[in-house]
Amino acid sequence: PKGKVVIVGGGIGGATTAKYMRMADPSIEVTVIEPNEHYHTCFMSNEVLSGERDIDSIRFDYSGLKGHGVNVVQDYVTGIDAEKKVVKTRGGQSFQYDRCVVSPGVDFRWDTIGGYDESVAEQIPHAWKAGSQTVTLRKQIEAMKDGGTVIVAPPPNPFRCPPGPYERVSQIAWYLKNNKPKSKILVLDPKDKFSKFGLFTAGWKKHYGYGSDNSMIEWVSGANGGKVESVDAKSRTVQAAVESFKGDVLNIIPAQKAGKIAFDAGLANDSGWCPVDMKTFESKQHSNIHVIGDAAIMSPMPKSGYSANSQAKVCAAAVVALLNGDSTPQPSLVNTCYSILMPEDAMSVAMVYNYSDGKINKVAGSGGLTPGYDDTTMEMRKREVGFAHSWFNNITKDVFG
Ligand code: FAD
Repeated sequence: PKGKVVIVGGGIGGATTAKYMRMADPSIEVTVIEPNEHYHTCFMSNEVLSGERDIDSIRFDYSGLKGHGVNVVQDYVTGIDAEKKVVKTRGGQSFQYDRCVVSPGVDFRWDTIGGYDESVAEQIPHAWKAGSQTVTLRKQIEAMKDGGTVIVAPPPNPFRCPPGPYERVSQIAWYLKNNKPKSKILVLDPKDKFSKFGLFTAGWKKHYGYGSDNSMIEWVSGANGGKVESVDAKSRTVQAAVESFKGDVLNIIPAQKAGKIAFDAGLANDSGWCPVDMKTFESKQHSNIHVIGDAAIMSPMPKSGYSANSQAKVCAAAVVALLNGDSTPQPSLVNTCYSILMPEDAMSVAMVYNYSDGKINKVAGSGGLTPGYDDTTMEMRKREVGFAHSWFNNITKDVFG
C-alpha cells in the first residue's frame, strides 16, 4: 500500500473521509475506529421526537464502508502518539499510521450547569447525540399529560447545529398541538438571538401562536434571564438566572467542546476546539493528524453534518495528494441547514465557501435564506420539506452507502 490512514470516529466526518479516500486511491489502507456498531444521525432526530419518523429510520451500519474496502474496527480510541504515529484503543490495540484523521464530534461541558451530569442526562436527556436519549425524550413527551410543560434549554455558542434546538422546539410543538393542545414549551436560552431567528419566530407565530397570550411556545432570552444555572432532577426544576421553573419534561442541552480524544491527543486549544490549517485540515498542534467536523475550528462554516461531509471530501483529497507526493487541491466547500417546522413547512440557509489567504471564506452571492411568508410561499415551504427529506436520503447514502 501507498500509505496507512487511521480515522478516529465513524460519524459523518470520519465515515465520509474513509469512503472518499478509498474511492480516490484504493492503494491506501484505511482503518476507521468507532466504538458503536450503529450510527444514529442527529439530523432528522427531531422528527423522531414529534413521532413523524421512527428511530430505526435514522440508524445506519458500517457494511457500506466495508464494501469500499475500509477496515472498520469496533473500539474506542484512548490516545494518539503523534511522535510515533500510533493510535491506541481501550481494547489494547495499536494502529500505525502515515496520516490520521480525527472526527470525534462534540463533548459536553458538564461543569457549566449545576446538578447536571452524564448520569442525570439518562433521565433528563440532552438528546444532542442521537440514539437512546432520543428515544427516552420521545417517550417522556408521549407520557406527559395534556397541559404539561416541556422545558428546552439550548446551549450557548458555539455548538453543534445552530438551528437544531429551534427545529426541535417546532417539532415538539407540532406533536403537542395535535395530541396535547393545552401543553406549553418553555425555551430557556442563554442567547439573545439564534440561527434563522426571524424565520423561526414567524413560523412559531403562524403555527403555534407565538407572541399571543395563548402561545404554545414561550422563549426566554439570555437578557431576560434565560440562562440555566442548575437543574434539580428529582423535582424537575430548573434554576435560571432570575427565576426557577418547574417542567414535566426537561431537555437540557449543555455547552459543548471538541470530543474527548481531541484533548487527550493535544489537538484542542484553550477555546475547547481544534485549530487546523484551512486548506488541508491538518492540525496546527500536531503534524500528520487532520481534524474535521464539529471538533475543528472551521469558522465561518457552522458545525453541521453537511459541513462535516463537505470538509471530509476536502480532507480526503488533501491526504490522498500528500500520500502521493502531489500538491494539495484548492478546497471548495458547501453547507445547507434545513429546519422542518411542521410536515408542510421547512426552511433553509445555504452557503458556498472557498479558500484563500489561509482562510475559509463565504463566496459572495452564493447561498441564501428561505424568504419570509407571503401569499405564495406555502407551496415553496412544502417543497422545502421534500428537499430536506431528499437531502437526508442523499447524504446518508453518500456517507454510509
Ligand atoms: P459525529 O457525527 O458525532 O461523529 C463522531 C463519531 O466519533 C461518533 O460516531 C463517535 O462515536 C465517534 N467517537 C468519538 N470519540 C471517539 C473515540 N475516542 N474513539 C473512536 N470513536 C470516537 N447537521 C446538518 O447538516 N443538518 C441537520 O439538519 C442537522 N440536524 C441536527 C439536529 C440535531 C438535533 C443535532 C444534535 C445535530 C444536527 N446536525 C445537523 C449536526 C450534525 O449531526 C453534526 O454536525 C455532525 O454529526 C458532525 O459530524 P462529526 O463527524 O463531527 O461528528
